[in-house]
Parts: sequence; structure tokens; C-alpha cells
Amino acid sequence: IAVPHGQGRARGLGPADLGVHGVEMDNLVGLGLPVVPGLTIPVGAGEELANRETAGVAIDLLEKLAVRGIWPAVRTERRPMLMHLRCSAPVPVSALPPAISVIGLSTRNVDALVEVIGRDRDIFDSWAETLRFVAENALDVDPDDLDDVVDDHRDSRARVPALLELIEESTGVAYPADPAEQLGLAARAMLARWASPRGQRTRRSLSLPEDLGIALHLRALRLGSWNESGYGSATSRDLETGGYAPHGVFHLGVRRTDPDPGPGEPLGSMPGGTAILDQIFATLEPHLRGVAQVEFEVRDRQMALLSAGAVEHPGPRAVTTLAVDLVNDHAIGRREAVAMLDPDLMQDLLHPQIKLTGSEQLLARGLPASPGAATGEIALSADTALQWAAQGRNVILVASETSPADVPALLAATAVLTSNGGLASHAAVVARGAGRPAVCGATSLRIDRAAGTVTNGDLTLAEGDIVSLNGRTGHVYRGAVTIRPAEPSAELDRLLGWADDIRRLGVRANADNAEDAATAFRLGAEGIGLCRTEHQFLGDQLPLVQRLVLADSEAEEIEAIAALTAAQEADFTDLLRVVGDRPITVRLLDAPLHEFLPADGQYRTEDEARRAADTHESNPMLGLRGVRFAMVQKRLYPAQAEALFRAWVAVSAEGLHPQLEVMIPLVSLPGELSRAIAQVHEAAASVTADTGITVPYKVGSMVETPRAALLAGSLADDADFLSFGTNDLTQLTYGFSRDDVEKTMLTHYLEHGLLTDSPFAVLDPDGVGALVSRAALLARSTKPEIKLGVCGEHGGDPSSIEYLNSVGLHYVSCSPRRVPVARLAAARAVL
Ligand code: PEP
Ligand code: MG
Repeated sequence: IAVPHGQGRARGLGPADLGVHGVEMDNLVGLGLPVVPGLTIPVGAGEELANRETAGVAIDLLEKLAVRGIWPAVRTERRPMLMHLRCSAPVPVSALPPAISVIGLSTRNVDALVEVIGRDRDIFDSWAETLRFVAENALDVDPDDLDDVVDDHRDSRARVPALLELIEESTGVAYPADPAEQLGLAARAMLARWASPRGQRTRRSLSLPEDLGIALHLRALRLGSWNESGYGSATSRDLETGGYAPHGVFHLGVRRTDPDPGPGEPLGSMPGGTAILDQIFATLEPHLRGVAQVEFEVRDRQMALLSAGAVEHPGPRAVTTLAVDLVNDHAIGRREAVAMLDPDLMQDLLHPQIKLTGSEQLLARGLPASPGAATGEIALSADTALQWAAQGRNVILVASETSPADVPALLAATAVLTSNGGLASHAAVVARGAGRPAVCGATSLRIDRAAGTVTNGDLTLAEGDIVSLNGRTGHVYRGAVTIRPAEPSAELDRLLGWADDIRRLGVRANADNAEDAATAFRLGAEGIGLCRTEHQFLGDQLPLVQRLVLADSEAEEIEAIAALTAAQEADFTDLLRVVGDRPITVRLLDAPLHEFLPADGQYRTEDEARRAADTHESNPMLGLRGVRFAMVQKRLYPAQAEALFRAWVAVSAEGLHPQLEVMIPLVSLPGELSRAIAQVHEAAASVTADTGITVPYKVGSMVETPRAALLAGSLADDADFLSFGTNDLTQLTYGFSRDDVEKTMLTHYLEHGLLTDSPFAVLDPDGVGALVSRAALLARSTKPEIKLGVCGEHGGDPSSIEYLNSVGLHYVSCSPRRVPVARLAAARAVL
């Protein structure tokens, strides 16, 4: 029944038989690493050790493996050993019965062993622990009586005889001196502990089957002179930097299980030296693809492993450095290196991080809307935020929600916190685009602007008080916290470079201005996949659009459009200069009209108020947006296109040739697209007539409505490209409001298992994804070479990217700061 370490695989045994530790030991032997002699009693076979003969056979085998003997009772001619028993389950379980550290010890051999070791403390401590555990779990000795003995005898040298006496009194039989009988009892104790109600509770809390079995692992506890043997643990890397730097602790003497072994000695003082550790780590790191952590024993100046594994959650910095080092050492290939880094974790390298001490006071929890961390003073209005930021103060804009008019304040702030709104809300989208940390939808916050306070339960803070937030977790803290700056590194750049060589999907960025575009290109974007032109009209330029929306006559309209496009031409020119020769998809105006109207309903004249009322819609997101506005207001798109083409003419004179792609939003009728395209051509012709220059451009359609997806074949007749706007497509496929769903129902749906993720964060493959893939098929059947991309938020989400890669799209486009995530995720999608 006993399987020596290293022989499991040859016998066709895996974790279900050997437990995770048995497999780990098998693997270590397979890697040629020195491992402490030991064997596994497979799952389900442990009870057989109760048979004295069977236990004797296992002990004989262990003695042979260890080339030692249980001493002096059994074999006096060999060097001494005892036995150590631990267990493991077929899956990793954190709460297993404790190890039993000294089996085979008795009053017959203890004196001789103490003489070998040169010290008695450790061995008596371990002996007392072993006796107590076995007595309680295998011999049914009353735990209270055991506790009394432990309390009455502080010194284990006195405790051991007292425990032996109690056992004999309680059971009527003396505790056996025979190693095989002791082993049988130890196995019984461990299995009984695992089967106990306490063990069952553990399994239930971990959602493991109640009848899950365990494997037992018996190893030789090789004894030697106290100051020439020892045990310790070591880790291969510095987890802060990821650099190779073996470190750990070493203890002289016999390893004990329970008590804190104290600070230990530096590894360098280990008998036999540490050179062997370098060899072990050089083998283990490529095998584990992780930072290695080992426990070991030293006997006769030789190191042998007791366990080895990868450090859990070593942090993205360490993983990145490790991956690059392993490639440099030719231990793994570039593809394997790319597979090591989780794109979501990598994000943390690109943003400042909170370093918690544990003493922080939580103010609220919201949605992790934009990663990064910040500390600043609460500002409850856009004006205050702007004013304080201009004084060089760090402000956190706190609002129930934000609107386009708040954009300058959002950009001036260090971070934003909203009580309403979801991951696709205005504040979230703008913050992500601009790289500001944000927590949105902290619904338990009460913001009272009149009183100048923010309240959650009993805690009330005033405007100007300091708060900190973590946009990665959605936590908001009272007061300042320690913030670590972003840690981009040369290693990360190399790894991303390898990802670029592997991926099939192109990666573009959603950027509306020169600054965001520059950020995106610095982070590796190949072009701009979405320039939302309405964003160019936020803040100061908002009145320009308001004039157009509220125009009451043709003359007012023409004037409004002229002012608007003049401003836009300047913005386009700045943007195109940064774009250089890369592609840029410029989307003509798309926003629900109410977003442009004064948020407070303050109009300058009664006429304006009346016209605003005329434009009022019950469902603005389903209203006069995008191409629909252009069908009604025929001057807008030609004017916008003209501004763009004139900007191109200007930068082409400087030797730059951006690849223009003009995109029409919210199309659901092929007729809308063909008419809008005609408007764009009209503008191009007029620019050519005026300048003598023919501007090269492509035109295409967004696919944001289910109808557009189903009619993609017809749209492809006119379009050079299609770009899936998966934000609106998700909204319209589910009929979930992208602005409200998190506030109203998402938590409930997630808690009750109706959804596993927000479909606005992770693309729904069954519904929205099916529309995307069907549309791609239809479009390609009309025009095989048609370019297909995605520019919704999903373009920066790793699992959505995996799906989109499988559909065979040409590119994804995401917020500038998510570009590295998309590059890595797109590479991993093809691995
Ligand atoms: C979309 O709907 O996915 C999209 C990119 O457009 P917007 O987010 O501007 O509506
Ligand atoms: Mg949209």
C-alpha cells in the first residue's frame, strides 16, 4: 500500500490517490531534486496501517529508502531515524489535521536518541505534542484531562511521563513502544480528526465533498547532532522587485510542528552552504512558472526538500521580472512568459496602488470604476474642484453623478467618487479614459451639497476633509493612506513586446484629444479606434452644441454650426498631429440631446426653455441620437466631416498622413448609413473644390443596435469598415440601461446567480457575442475584406478579448490606459 516518493506516476497514480503533497513529492523526484525519503499511503488505504504487519512493511520500506533505522530498538547497526506523518487531500485544502512529528519514540530509545542529538528539549516537546494528539483522536482520552496534564506540567520532560500515565489510566493499556503499533495509532488519529465533525465543517465551508478522503505521507525524520542538522524555508525572489534573491530562515535542531520556532539563523549559516539552493531554484522556477518557495531539512550537510511550491499571489511586478529572467535564461519560451502574467493583475503596474496598514477606516464601498489610488480633499462641486485644483491641492470630486459639464473638474481632480451610476456611467467612462482613479455607485453615501457633507451611516465628513480611494477594489477610506506610485518597468515593456509578436488582434485606443492619444501611443496603441467627437464639446465648448440644439431658425442653425466646426477643426488638427500616419476612426456626433442641455435647467431666455422642452424625450438613450440627429439636422455631419478633412489638409502640409476613417453612429437602417455617407462625401468634395486636395478617407458604420448586427450584410454594401459599439449593443440586446443597471439590479442578479458578471464589463458571448459573430459573418459574405473592430468598453476586457479573437475581428479599441492589458490579453487569446 505504500508508494515511495517519485514512483506514483509510474504506477499511474495522481492527486486522487496520492493527494496534492504526494504528487508534489513525485514531481520533485521527477525533476531530479533531492527529496527527504518518504512514502505515500494512498487515499482510502490509511486504515490498513492499523494492521501491525502492514505498518511494519511500510516501516521497513521507509528504513530502506532512508538507509537508516528506528533506533536502537529495531536496528542498532544503522544511523537513527524516527517517523513523521502528515496528510494531504486530492485538492488543496488549507485546514488539514496537523502533522504528527515523532513516531517511533519510546522510553526505550529516547535516552540514546537524546545522546545522538546532544539536546533533549526539542524531542520532548515534539513527543508531548504527538502523544496528546494521538491520545485525543485515536484513544478517546478526555481532552479536558489532557489539557489538565499539559497545564500542570509546563516542562515537556515532565509532561511526557504524565501523558503516558494518563493514557494508560484512561485506556487500561500502556502506550505502545513498538513503532509499527505507534504508526497504526497515528494514522488512526489523523483519519479520525479528518472525519470528525470539525473536519466535516471545514469541508462544508470550503464546498468540498464531505466524504473527501486524504492520503497519508510518512517520511523519515533523520536524526543527527543538534548543531549539524536543521531545517528551514526559503523563497527564490524578492517579492517587491521580483529580482532573484534567495532568502529565508534556517533553524538548527529537529523540526517541530506546532510552536513558533523563533527567528532562526540566516541561510548562509547552514551546514553545507546554500549553493544547492541556487540549483534547486534554477530547476523549480521554470517548472512552477512562479516564484519558488521550499521547505527543507539538512542532515549530514545535505539538503533535502520537504515541500516545494509557487508563492501564491506574488504580485505582477515579481511575475514580470521572473518571466523575463526565465526567457533570458532560456528556461522557457516567450509564449510561456506571456502566459505567466495575468492581464488584470498587470494593470496594477500601470497605476498607483494603495498600501494598506489595516488601520484604515472604511467610508464606503462602490464599484471599481477606474483603477489606481488617490488621496485628496473632498470637493462637492465642479467649481470647488476646479478652484482648489488650481491652487495645487489634490481634490477628489464627490458627486451623485457627473455630466459632460463636469469634465473639466473631473480632469482637474485627482480622482472621482460618485454615489450613483455604474461602470458605464459618465464619470466612470471619463475617468477611465483620462486615467483618473474612480469609484462609482457607492450607493450608501448621502451627499448633501447644501450642508457640504458626505455621510455614510454614523460617519459624516465635510467638504475639504481628506478621503482616499482605491479604484481597483471600490473601497473608499477616511483620511490619507500610503500610495505607491505606478511601477512600469523595462521588463514589462519586453514582455508586452513579445505579446505584440504573438497576437492576431490589432489594439487601438479610444481617444478624443491629443493628450489621450499621446498616452495611448506611448502605451502601444496602433491607432485610434474611436474618437467620440461629442467629447470635444464638453466643458468650455458646451455652449456651442447647446446653441445648435436650441437653434430656432435656419440662420441661427448655420451660425451655430459654423462656430462649432471652427472649434472642432482646431481640435482635429491637434489630434491628427499626434496620430501621425496611423489610422484614426472619427465618429460623428452621438449623444442623447439632454446631455448637452444645462443640467440645472437654467436657460437664458424663455424661448430657450421652450425649445429645450420641445426636445425633451422620455427615453433619451433611445431618442434623437447619432445618425438620427443627422437625418433630421442635415447640416451637422457635413460640417463635422469638413472640419476633419480641413484638419487633414493642414497636417498633410506638415508631411503627416493620418488614415482617416469616418464613422457613423447608432445606425439601424441601411438607408441611414447611405445618406450619412453621402453627407460625408459631399463635405469631401467641397474641401477638394476649395483646396485642390483630395483627402483619402474611408467611411464605416458602428454596429450598436441588434438590427444593425442582423443587417450587417447590407451595411457592408456601403461601409468600408464596421465597428461594434458593444456598450449600446449590450444595452439594446438586454434592454438594460447602461447608466442604471448597476444601481438598480445588478448586485441582486449577481448574488442570485442570474448573471456571473456585468454584461457591460464582460461581453455576453451567448447574446451580444452571438450578434457580433453573426454580423461579422454577414458583413464578410458581402465584402470579404471589410475591416471589423470593437470599440465598446469590452475592447479592454481580457475575457471579452478572448471571445472577440475567436470571432476573428481585426482589432479592439479600448481606453488608453487599458492598451497594455488589451495587448497582453490579445496575445494570451491565441496561446
Ligand atoms: C458603444 O456603444 O459601445 C460605443 C463605443 O459608443 P458610446 O459608448 O459612445 O455610446
Ligand atoms: Mg454607443
